[in-house]
Amino acid sequence: MKVSVMGINFDDMTLEGFIAEGMECVRTKQKCIVVTPNAEIALVAKQDVDFKRLLNSARLVLPDGISIKMAAKILSLPIRYKVAGIEFCEGMCRELAQSGRSVYLFGAKPGIAEMAGENLRKKYPALTIAGTHDGYFTPEQEGEIIADINAKSPDMLLCCLGAPKQERFMFKYKDALSVPVMVGAGGSMDVFAGTVKRAPKIFIKLGLEWFYRLITDPKRIKRMIRIPIYLWDALCYRIKGDKNND
Ligand code: UDP
Repeated sequence: MKVSVMGINFDDMTLEGFIAEGMECVRTKQKCIVVTPNAEIALVAKQDVDFKRLLNSARLVLPDGISIKMAAKILSLPIRYKVAGIEFCEGMCRELAQSGRSVYLFGAKPGIAEMAGENLRKKYPALTIAGTHDGYFTPEQEGEIIADINAKSPDMLLCCLGAPKQERFMFKYKDALSVPVMVGAGGSMDVFAGTVKRAPKIFIKLGLEWFYRLITDPKRIKRMIRIPIYLWDALCYRIKGDKNND
């Protein structure tokens, strides 16, 4: 079920539910674009109607971050689960490995996707890494990248170019790419590569992953300031009695 939180239509589903739906699309070869908006991305979408439209055109919209759940709570909307994009990607890799399928790793700085591939292969030996490409390319190179992905014919594309670049890329090439599941997964490639550490489980459990990211990378403060702004927005909508802001 889609639930609109200030104009973005999130799916209220468990991690397992998202993975089951993703795998169904892999098996039936249906196109499935997956987006993972957090508070920062939601605020970008507030200023950029075209980007918001893209997010709302995705088949699966993961509430990626405790702030989305908190905003929903402020607005008395039924978002019960927070589902991190990286957990979806990891779960999909596990399932793809179990059925002898493949993933193409696209994004991050040169060399990172290869490192991520090595680590994923160690964890899931039956997973095929169909191909890799870094996320720094000119518009002229896009054709080559599409051709490479299609030649390798993966079951899933991890598109880690940061938002909104990754969403624009996936939608622009949706028809040209012969890949069933495409996921806009931001910094997940860096985490799979091991160059960025995810917060310890206790931080994740307490909904304090944002705080861990802030203390380990204080430069993010400029981006993280958007979290309280997003929650303040939710409060204003509640006061105005407007839940959706469409
Ligand atoms: N990135 C990229 N191409 C670009 C800009 C960014 O591949 O033109 C990568 C960047 O190297 C990083 C990821 O996109 O690996 C974005 O990470 P960020 O921390 O912004 O993502 P988040 O998970 O916070 O959305």
